[in-house]
Amino acid sequence: MNDGQRLLEVNNLRKHFPIQHGLLRREIGRIRAVDDVSFYIGESETLGLVGESGCGKTTTARCILRAVDPTSGEILFRSEDGSTVDVATAPRAQMRSLRHEMQMIFQDPFSSLNPRMTLMDIVGEPLVISGYPRSEREDRVAELLRVVGLRPEFMRRFPHAFSGGQRQRIGIARALALNPRLIVADEPVSALDVSVQAQVLNLMMDLQSELGLTYLFVAHDLSVVKHISDRIAVMYVGKLVEMAPTDALFATPRHPYTAALLSSVPDPDPRTVRERVVLQGEVANPANPPAGCYFNPRCEYATDICRSETPQLREIAPNHFAACHRADELALAGVV
Ligand code: SF4
Repeated sequence: MNDGQRLLEVNNLRKHFPIQHGLLRREIGRIRAVDDVSFYIGESETLGLVGESGCGKTTTARCILRAVDPTSGEILFRSEDGSTVDVATAPRAQMRSLRHEMQMIFQDPFSSLNPRMTLMDIVGEPLVISGYPRSEREDRVAELLRVVGLRPEFMRRFPHAFSGGQRQRIGIARALALNPRLIVADEPVSALDVSVQAQVLNLMMDLQSELGLTYLFVAHDLSVVKHISDRIAVMYVGKLVEMAPTDALFATPRHPYTAALLSSVPDPDPRTVRERVVLQGEVANPANPPAGCYFNPRCEYATDICRSETPQLREIAPNHFAACHRADELALAGVV
């Protein structure tokens, strides 16, 4: 992948939610859910976006699909006609025509499917909305079910007849209906059993190589994104704190927060003894973050500069970025 093949480029994205008070709804503060986030995703690449709950990863994903309007920043998407569209400011009518190129897979396969609709209606709904010829809809739904490993004769059944993993396959089939190029997957396997998680991840990887899909894969758990992601971006309180190719991030983390997350990744070899970093204190409040590095109250390496100056994301090694004043000197433990 090179710069010329970027499908999505996010520059200085911010999403702040006002905190209002009183009858006049006076603004008394702001929750900085996403605060100056920049990254790109190459064509057919998977970027894992990881962080604890409330770190802003889902809000980032929702901004990219314009499910919420960003406060500022650019979201440049290279459309299939070769033009670049700024999703952050595109008029609603233009967004409607872009919708088929960008789709979402949701976290909860139990609540994201309408229990009163058959698979034909659920998977076929995007086809109806886009004006797909009626006579060809059933064949297309059958094909989509086959692609995700479900039998086409299931199309008259309702979601309750299926297991969690099968329901997530239905959600994927629906997302694929209009041949999207970018899929934003918001914790797509976290509601599933571990054995089923692997099946769904394998399916997503197979679909990617067959269809050339590009994924933004949101998760709270590094072990989930390890095998599917080419690169991983780690978020903490609305900001990116580290971004690197997956192998480099696991082997040589450059930010203490990433190292702490890695220390809780289960090791498949039970003989391995790893020191677990137990994070002290609570995640910072995005409405009132601490001065300096937002991670400083929980960081065992914090010094004076960490309490006064906010570190910028900078390139520490080729294609390996970290926002830590001490990234060059710390030798943090990774996972091989
Ligand atoms: Fe820790 Fe300082 Fe680095 Fe923040 S900048 S992660 S407080 S060492």
